[in-house]
Amino acid sequence: MSDSNGKGLRTIIIGAGMAGLLAGIRLKQRGDDNFTIYEKGDCVGGTWRENTYPGLTCDVPAHAYTYSFAYNPDWSQFMAPGPEIREYFEAMANRYGVMEHIRFNEEVTSAQWQDDRWRIGTSTGRDDEGNMLVAATGVLHVPNYPDIEGVDTFAGACFHSARWDHSVPLDGERIGVIGTGSTGVQIVSALADRASELTHFQRTAQWIMGRPGVVYTEEDKRRFREDPALIEAVRNNPEGAANRDRFLEAVINPESPAHAELEAILTAQLEERVQDPVLREKLRPNYRAACKRLIFANDYYDAVQKPNVEVETRKIARVEPQGVRLDDGTLVELDVLVLATGFRADQFVRPMKIKGVGGADLDDLWAEVPRAYFAVTVPEFPNMVLLNGPAGPVGNFSLIDVAEAQWDYFDKLMEPVRRGECAGLAPTMQALDAYDERRRKAAAGTIWASGCKSWYIGGDGLPQVWSWPMEYFWEVMSKPDFGDYEKIGETQDA
Ligand code: NAP
Repeated sequence: MSDSNGKGLRTIIIGAGMAGLLAGIRLKQRGDDNFTIYEKGDCVGGTWRENTYPGLTCDVPAHAYTYSFAYNPDWSQFMAPGPEIREYFEAMANRYGVMEHIRFNEEVTSAQWQDDRWRIGTSTGRDDEGNMLVAATGVLHVPNYPDIEGVDTFAGACFHSARWDHSVPLDGERIGVIGTGSTGVQIVSALADRASELTHFQRTAQWIMGRPGVVYTEEDKRRFREDPALIEAVRNNPEGAANRDRFLEAVINPESPAHAELEAILTAQLEERVQDPVLREKLRPNYRAACKRLIFANDYYDAVQKPNVEVETRKIARVEPQGVRLDDGTLVELDVLVLATGFRADQFVRPMKIKGVGGADLDDLWAEVPRAYFAVTVPEFPNMVLLNGPAGPVGNFSLIDVAEAQWDYFDKLMEPVRRGECAGLAPTMQALDAYDERRRKAAAGTIWASGCKSWYIGGDGLPQVWSWPMEYFWEVMSKPDFGDYEKIGETQDA
């Protein structure tokens, strides 16, 4: 049996990115050592381990993209570069004693609720079991390879942005980048001064917001170190909070003055910063602002106005050994071709096979679209939490805050299990259906459903994004509604 704090209970965590490490740290902080983190890669960091492309930067202010309990006075810039963020997570894994709980290079391939506990299998053939299952696999981890004819015939180097080949020379090369999401924009900005010729293949123009390019001096860092209130001031900056509220109002209510204001700001930036009228029109989106995830970049407009950089809007016909053939017959000759073509955002814990009570298959429940009660738990999959799971908040703000709130919710939800009152807790299907009906209605009225194509849109044609004000998210995460949950098993042996 577990003791009254449930310390005999065991937790299996999948993924050693920001959210999986958070789960481990929170368990350690409550004095619980009975957990293992399985990580398919060879180091911590999740998305910050997988993405190593030139220009990789977080578009959330660094002091806000930080665990609430572990400020970092040493961030080098207002918006931190990717490698620095990965190092921060590694330092946290060491500082909180989580590193020794991680099994690297070991992918969880299956998980099944059996005999009132989770039994998992891994890529190395190991079996393990636990009472709780934390799915911290991230959203964007399965690359989307474009279905462009001939990609595999290219004679030069060709790779996806999340599989960057650092052995490939870039300086003085003719480089093509396909894709104009946040990734493609950051890569083009970073390579404009390095490539001899840089072609950005654009299928759809993007709304782009300038962002502060502040670099912190040693003096700034010293002040942050000596006075954490200065970090608080960045995290809780009233102007930033007001902007965020206006932004949320704009996306949730596309007919609001906030949306008109947002679109006016973005349009003015395009008009002011791009001189050539032909280029300006190429870059002008033909859909409403923030329908696709807004891109934050302070140097992209400068980059594409350099003489060696071309924004190519003609359709790609195919890739050939020498380069990209456009549909008017023009060949763009290239040495390097980067596929910044995004990710399959509907995967979450998959391709892992997950089976719940009585063999219920997650693939069946998610056949149309991934669904989770308030984005965190799933009927018939007891004691399983999805951190940054389906239709959670994924807007332009810190996913760390979101994961922390989701973990606190799960921690409270597991209290009856820790007290030995039952083996498991899962939301009822009725609760999920009722929640999902409301969610779909709200999602249909957001800017994300206003007619563009984006990774936010799920298999049911609706945005898979939290579609209410954030206050509502914090409120529902602050306290589980046990009335929406059912107990599975009466007592818990550990
Ligand atoms: P993305 O936003 O999904 O963009 C993919 C791009 O590839 C789009 O421009 C898409 O064109 C294009 N594309 C896909 N298939 C194509 C094809 N067959 N032919 C031509 N173009 C094709 O992916 P992403 O840029 O990797 O960004 C994904 C998300 O990662 C972001 O929205 C963000 O959440 C996150 N991210 C964040 C940061 C950060 O700073 N925090 C940085 C990078 C990424 P269409 O638009 O026409 O479909």
